This record gives sequence, structure tokens and C-alpha cells, in this order.
Amino acid sequence: MGGAGERRETLVVELERLRAEREELDSRIRTLESQLEASSAAGGDAAGAGAAAAACPRRPGNGFTPYDGLSADMIHRYSRHLLLPDFGVEGQRKLSRSSILVIGAGGLGSPVALYLAACGVGCLGIVDGDDVELNNLHRQIIHKEAYVGLSKVKSAADTCREINSSIMVVEYHHTLKPCNALDIVRKYDIVVDATDNLPTRYMISDCCVLLNKPLISGAALGFEGQLTVYHHNGSPCYRCLFPNPPPVAACQRCSDSGVLGVVPGVIGCLQALEAIKVVTDVGEPLSGRMLLFDALSARIRIVKIRASSAVCTICGENSVFTQEDFQKFDYENFTQSPMSDKSVPSLDLLPESARVTCKDYKKLVNNGEPHLLLDVRPAHHFQIASVSQSMNIPLSALEEKLHMLETSLKETMDASSSNKPPSVYVVCRRGNDSQRAVQILHEKGFLSAKDIIGGLQSWAQEVDPDFPIY
Ligand SMILES: [Zn+2]
Repeated sequence: MGGAGERRETLVVELERLRAEREELDSRIRTLESQLEASSAAGGDAAGAGAAAAACPRRPGNGFTPYDGLSADMIHRYSRHLLLPDFGVEGQRKLSRSSILVIGAGGLGSPVALYLAACGVGCLGIVDGDDVELNNLHRQIIHKEAYVGLSKVKSAADTCREINSSIMVVEYHHTLKPCNALDIVRKYDIVVDATDNLPTRYMISDCCVLLNKPLISGAALGFEGQLTVYHHNGSPCYRCLFPNPPPVAACQRCSDSGVLGVVPGVIGCLQALEAIKVVTDVGEPLSGRMLLFDALSARIRIVKIRASSAVCTICGENSVFTQEDFQKFDYENFTQSPMSDKSVPSLDLLPESARVTCKDYKKLVNNGEPHLLLDVRPAHHFQIASVSQSMNIPLSALEEKLHMLETSLKETMDASSSNKPPSVYVVCRRGNDSQRAVQILHEKGFLSAKDIIGGLQSWAQEVDPDFPIY
């Protein structure tokens, strides 16, 4: 027995040594390959040389042998691609040499990254500054419960590597900003915008124009989605279509309006498909056209969009927008909306005397002060969860339903021993609509109305940790 144990020990040590040696060789090969790539690009134009030197690293060969043939296990892995006459070995070779940057590892980015990893893209970059949250999992299918609280990029990259260990996955665990976007985007052949906010959308489009990269752009909200390929084969950039950002009120986010989980799944799959078509030059990419998907009626429409605009301030003939301008450009100010929904600006509409904190409100409830708690969220929000004893009149219907408030106030006063009229406290989800409601109530003569600062989100954080956050 002792002899067998010793033998096993020797084998394990030997294996470890060989693995370390292989790692070392792989790393040397990668260095030489990037040097080779840089020197061959230097033979071309000077501007391209810097970019190639900083190109996304790839695994040696990416499954192709030095003679450009596929190794046996790669033939086995990609056989269904190779069998496609219009795709074949050439398509697979182009895929294996491509580098694609996926910005956002959320609802759209999940299927994009999964498919691009599985299909054998040479180098896949993933950018995301957020951590995985439980409320992501119904649509962000690349993440698993075990990763809740951990970085989305790490979670997504781990899943991609589990699916295909032959590709290179590069993690960027930070939010894309004008100060870092050029350096990251420069390393990739094409970019997939899988983000969900307006300032980032403008920023990515501008960056892709400056660096001359095709951009596969997708969006999903509620039951609808859309996608197109910007800045490719004469198609417009985002600014050609929308030179000025829409009013703030017209911008919705999944965190406010909701989204059916599979809708970004559908759009993300189509983004992966367009990315593959662009890098392999197979088929007709969605350039100059936009696909509109309506999940409820199961309808897909494709509309023609305008060509790139000669007077576009970014991609137009006389554009003077430089990389320096880009790095200084304030996209949040330009669109009047934040890059992260973690930093949705809170309004400050009321004097201090018309506002109370959640903790102060809780104290007056404990003291038995007669009052009325008015919840101004939409009715379907109120059904998700509410504070006991609150009454719901959505902000949109407040003015026409003031009589309900009057009746309830009278009942509250009759039930209490005091002859002082009860106060009205107003709450909403995050503390913005409640301020608007208090303004309306003050105008209509309900002068005792007060706003509960920070809404139910603060209530859950400061008073009742069991109150559900959605
Ligand atoms: Zn443009």
C-alpha cells in the first residue's frame, strides 16, 4: 500500500511540474505572438501600429495549428459550423481571429457573451462595474445564485471559460467612462453595446466612431426590444439618428419600468448573431436598418434608417470632435441622466419643514400620533408590497381623487380623541414622486402634508429590513 501511495505522490508532483512548464511556455508564446503581430502591423500605416501592439491577447492558435488547419478536437467542437457551406472553415478561422468587446454583462450581455464564447471568438472582452444582485437572475442568465454579491464581470467570465476554455476572456471590472473607453475599445475589432442607459449609449457610439469600430447596439424594455449595427458599411452613428438627447421624462429604465426576462434574451441573441456576421463577413448585417421586436404580439419589424449624416457632429465630413474632446465630454450633463441607476438623482423640491426622515416617521407612529399615510406609487407597485395602514392614490390620479383623501382624513380624525386635524405623510418608492405629490397637496390646501425622505427604499434600509426592495 505504502508503495502505491508513494507512486501516486510522484505522479502528482510530476503533473504539477509539467503544468507549470506549459503555463510558462504558453505565456512566452503569447508574448512572441503579440510582438509578431505588432511588427507586421508596423509595416502598414503608422496609426495602426500602436493599436495592434495593444490588441486584445489571444490564446496561441485559438484552435488552429501553425499551418492554419483546425486541430482534431476543434473540428469536433465546431463541426456544426464547419458543415455550413457558407460559413465553413473560413468562417470559423475568422471567428477565432476576432476580438469582440461586450459592454455590459446584464440582460443583453448575458446571451451575447455566452454565444460568442461558445462559438469560438478568439478574444472576448467583458466590461461591467456592477455586482450580481438577486433581482438580476430572472434575465441575466450568465450569472448563478452562488455569484450574488460578487462582480458581474468575474461571474460572466467564469461561465464563458467553463463553456469554452480555448478562448481568451478579458475582464474589465469597472464602468466604462470617457477616461478609460478609448484604451479599452481600441483593442477590439468590434463592440457590442449591451448597456441600458442613454449617456453610455452616446459615449460608446462616439468612441466607436473615433476608433472606426462597428457597433452592435441593442435595447430592451418592458415587452419590447430593438437592435441595429451602427457605423458599419455607411450606416449612421447614434448621433446621426439622435443629435439631441430626448427629454429626461422620455427615458425609461428596466429598474423603473420592468422588463420581461426573455426579451433582452431575444435581443442579446440577435446581437451575438450580428457580431458573428460582421466579423466573419457572412450574410447581410443589420446596417442602415433597425429591427423592432414586440414580444406581446410576437411581431418583428425591420425599418430602414437614415444613412450617416454629412453634418453629424461626430461622424460627419466636417466633424472636429477629437479623442481629447471625447475624454473631456460630460455625457451625464449632455443627456441630463446618470450613467448608473445606482445614482438616480433625487429631487429636492420642498422646504425642510415639509419633509421627515423614515426614522422620525416611525417615531410618530410609535407615539400613536393620529395621521394618514398616503402611498402615491402606481397601483401595481402598491400590490408588490406596502406599509400597513397606508392608502394608495397614484400620483397620476391624485388631483382627481382628492375627495378620497378628504374622506379618510375625516375618518381618522373621528377615530382619534384629538380635535386637531391629522397630518398627511406621503411616501413613494424612492422619494421623488412623494415630493411632487406634497407640492400638489399644498397647492390644494392640504398644508400639513409632509414627504417621507427617500421613500420605501430608505424605509427598508433604515427602519424595516424585512420590507422587500424591488
Ligand atoms: Zn454620426
